[in-house]
Amino acid sequence: MTAYNAPLGDIQFLMSEVFQADKIFASMPGTAEVTPDLISAILEEAAKIAENLISPINQSGDQEGCKCVDGVVTTPEGFREAYAHYIAGGWAGLTGEIDFGGQGMPKLLSSPIEEMFFGANSSFALYAILNTGATLTLSEHASEVLKQRFLPKMYEGRWTGTMCLTEAHAGTDLGMIRTKAVPQADGSYRITGTKIFITAGEHDLTENIIHLVLAKLPDAPAGPKGISLFVVPKNGLDNEGSLSGQHNGVFCGAVEHKMGIKGSATCVMNFDGAQGWLVGELNHGLSNMFTMMNYERLSMGLQSNGLADSSYQTAAAYARERIQGRSPTGPQQPEGEADPILVHPDVRRMLLTMRANIMAGRALSMYAALQLDISRFHPDLDQRQKADKLVALLIPVAKAYCSDRGFEMCVTGQQILGGHGYVAEWGVEQNVRDARIAQIYEGANGIQALDLMGRKTVRENGELLAVLLTEMDKFIAGAQDVLGMDQYLPHLLNNQQMIRGVTRRVIDRSRDNPDEIGAASYAYMELLGLTLYNFMWLRILAAVLPKLHAGTGDTPHLSGLVKTAEFFFARLLPKGQALVAEIEAGAETLMALSAEEF
Ligand SMILES: Cc1cc2nc3c(=O)[nH]c(=O)nc-3n(C[C@H](O)[C@H](O)[C@H](O)COP(=O)(O)OP(=O)(O)OC[C@H]3O[C@@H](n4cnc5c(N)ncnc54)[C@H](O)[C@@H]3O)c2cc1C
Repeated sequence: MTAYNAPLGDIQFLMSEVFQADKIFASMPGTAEVTPDLISAILEEAAKIAENLISPINQSGDQEGCKCVDGVVTTPEGFREAYAHYIAGGWAGLTGEIDFGGQGMPKLLSSPIEEMFFGANSSFALYAILNTGATLTLSEHASEVLKQRFLPKMYEGRWTGTMCLTEAHAGTDLGMIRTKAVPQADGSYRITGTKIFITAGEHDLTENIIHLVLAKLPDAPAGPKGISLFVVPKNGLDNEGSLSGQHNGVFCGAVEHKMGIKGSATCVMNFDGAQGWLVGELNHGLSNMFTMMNYERLSMGLQSNGLADSSYQTAAAYARERIQGRSPTGPQQPEGEADPILVHPDVRRMLLTMRANIMAGRALSMYAALQLDISRFHPDLDQRQKADKLVALLIPVAKAYCSDRGFEMCVTGQQILGGHGYVAEWGVEQNVRDARIAQIYEGANGIQALDLMGRKTVRENGELLAVLLTEMDKFIAGAQDVLGMDQYLPHLLNNQQMIRGVTRRVIDRSRDNPDEIGAASYAYMELLGLTLYNFMWLRILAAVLPKLHAGTGDTPHLSGLVKTAEFFFARLLPKGQALVAEIEAGAETLMALSAEEF
């Protein structure tokens, strides 16, 4: 197994040169103290955690998995010690509200850190990421009293959070949930019901687990409009918010046996009259939960991208060492029995496809994270509103497109190792299994595509897309003067034209036939994802070319980026034409078969 190396060079380049984080952070009061030195120091420390603390327990955690005996869940060996180390470093409260003991760091900084943690050990990272999402939701929607009760300990990492939405009969369609919340005289609620697939629902890492649970009051309106959000601790609390020593009626029924992320406890959770408190307004639970979901969805793209990068590192090293066959242009290592497989164009195709997608995926996740920061910290209302629109449009793409590409890249990495990729020794087989879930949880990718096409595009009459296209126009106008960019910018102009055209046509067609939205949605999400990767590569080039021409910076790193971008434009971007054709094909062939004909 190859050790995980945190991709600090690429991350720092994106942070400082492409997104110019220092200028942006300096311009917003809430982030003014996040200086370049601080950013570098935090990223370097995070890289050490990824490489030295959690990567070494990745493979063993996969082999051992989580165990559940009589409702007591044990994480794999080493997880408890690593978690204790992780929280001692203050990582659990990195992005948390300062008033409650968090460190107030921006998402642009935490997103590449999440990528590193996921790349090093996705199972371990999930305990941390779920907690961050839960604290965000409490921070945004809970009362001061609840925030005071829960946030400080969750920021310390002494308590971790979960997200309890799914029930056996209600996954995508949460309007059907049956978990009940009965109001009590003291203002709290008694929660009863069973949730399934709950990540980190039970474990042995912390003294308490704080569940964010969707439930309905007995007289709630039917469907999604009757859902409320509750905070429910596993262990009961006294009036001061300390552990009361009483169990709160929250039990783990089982841990799922699953394809990957085996060190992450995926639990059936039974709430048996557990005491909970309302978070936000009654019947607004689903929209309040979206705070968590927006962040978690971005994280799912980061998970796959991190794992893809881990596979790339192994595959690139392997391709340099593994000797099989001769180069078509004659022996490259005549002294040896054969040449390294890196000489073969098809192996290069695979490696470059990985590299091009991973770097663009990382940049897209950071771009989306930046919009979340502007929405949270910017003093100007117009800027915040524009960022909100971009977040709404970008999140389903950053979740679905990045997780699809991430999984594919893990499979591609496995392919580069041939049969050695299929066996467990090298770790790339585990990456395939661990990456697969990101396409499914937090809303299956088909649902993300539907959200993008239906709610975010057709319902908004293309307004959110127009905001993004204007951002691209501004970039193009600014990049015209960068020496060497003129040859690349037409790629984005073409993409913009394509996406404008199909957007208008789907909106028009959906007026007569609502099935046109779902029929176009997946290919549309992929076309927007490809367009955004194109935009990201151009933004990278606009930062790389001036440095290359001036002879400043790390020339091999910079020229490697230019060559990878050129590969992307020549060999991956043309797939956009096929996606346009797929979108134009409409709903007819999809809906033609009767149920019996399937
Ligand atoms: C390992 C793991 C961890 C998880 N962690 C959590 C967690 O922490 N908390 C939590 O609450 N849940 C969690 N989940 C649940 C996860 O979010 C759901 O499995 C997921 O949202 C899909 O729901 P479902 O499985 O019920 O599939 P369904 O909703 O039954 O969907 C099945 C298929 O039908 C498609 N589909 C469904 N409805 C529509 C529609 N209206 N239009 C078009 N297509 C549709 C979907 O895209 C999907 O392909 C986890 C699941 C797993 C496996």
